[in-house]
Amino acid sequence: MKIISCPHELKEYLKNIKNSIGFIPTMGALHEGHISLIKKAKEQNETVVVSIFLNPTQFLKGEDLDKYPKKDEADKKICSISGVDVLFFPQPSDMYGADEVSLLAPKVRGYVLEGQSRPGHFNGVLTVVMKLLNIVNPTRAYFGKKDAQQLNLISLMVKQLFMDVEIVPVDTVREKDGLALSSRNAYLGKEERVEALKVSSSLRLSSAMVSRGVLDAKEIKSAMREILAPLEIFYVEILDRDFNQLERVEIGNSVILVEVKVGTTRLLDNIWL
Ligand code: AMP
Repeated sequence: MKIISCPHELKEYLKNIKNSIGFIPTMGALHEGHISLIKKAKEQNETVVVSIFLNPTQFLKGEDLDKYPKKDEADKKICSISGVDVLFFPQPSDMYGADEVSLLAPKVRGYVLEGQSRPGHFNGVLTVVMKLLNIVNPTRAYFGKKDAQQLNLISLMVKQLFMDVEIVPVDTVREKDGLALSSRNAYLGKEERVEALKVSSSLRLSSAMVSRGVLDAKEIKSAMREILAPLEIFYVEILDRDFNQLERVEIGNSVILVEVKVGTTRLLDNIWL
């Protein structure tokens, strides 16, 4: 596995690759969720590139940038064992200069849900993903459905800016007990870890209600809120796949999203029905 930290060097290196390139951008502290993206990319492409970059511009002041888990050596091993061909490992100074051009997230869709509790977060996400896609110029780029709003906005960016990359959504990987894998789960204490299960339980309940024929969004959301009640709830929403509000679940075109805080840890999860 080749490890490169300089964007220009990576561009030069990848210029010689004529077959398909699959790309997985990450912030490190890799887990089985990231590995499933790598696996999918390996199935679909001849060359697989992973980036590990803790992007400072997508963190708001006072957020967890400084304490975000760092596992550089373990991450390199995971990439190498998973068959990654090139690992891009830049520093912030490799990616950003002093007076920067940047992208703005859409004024509505970028400022609801996670964008409402983290205003400006998606400007940072879109800017770094644009930079990374321009450096790697992949055939396909892989993003987790777990970060559904991020996936939606990146797909929108690629479409609206006429970019030549296929965005491939990948299913959420969970622990056996239902907790969606996340690098931030490392922040959870023992009791918080138990509390966190309310998130996946509430989503399982929503899915069970839909299977019983309950499609009314208000009814489903209020049953979910009962389970989530002890936690600080940022939102419980039922949207279509373009992120418009739904009054009734449309099977095959719905996503049910939850964001809560457990202790000081923000947890996101969703289910696609
Ligand atoms: P991150 O390192 O958290 O920025 O995540 C990098 C990529 O992995 C993003 O596209 C995430 O949506 C995806 N990802 C994170 N957690 C999971 C998971 N549990 N299952 C599937 N994909 C995930």
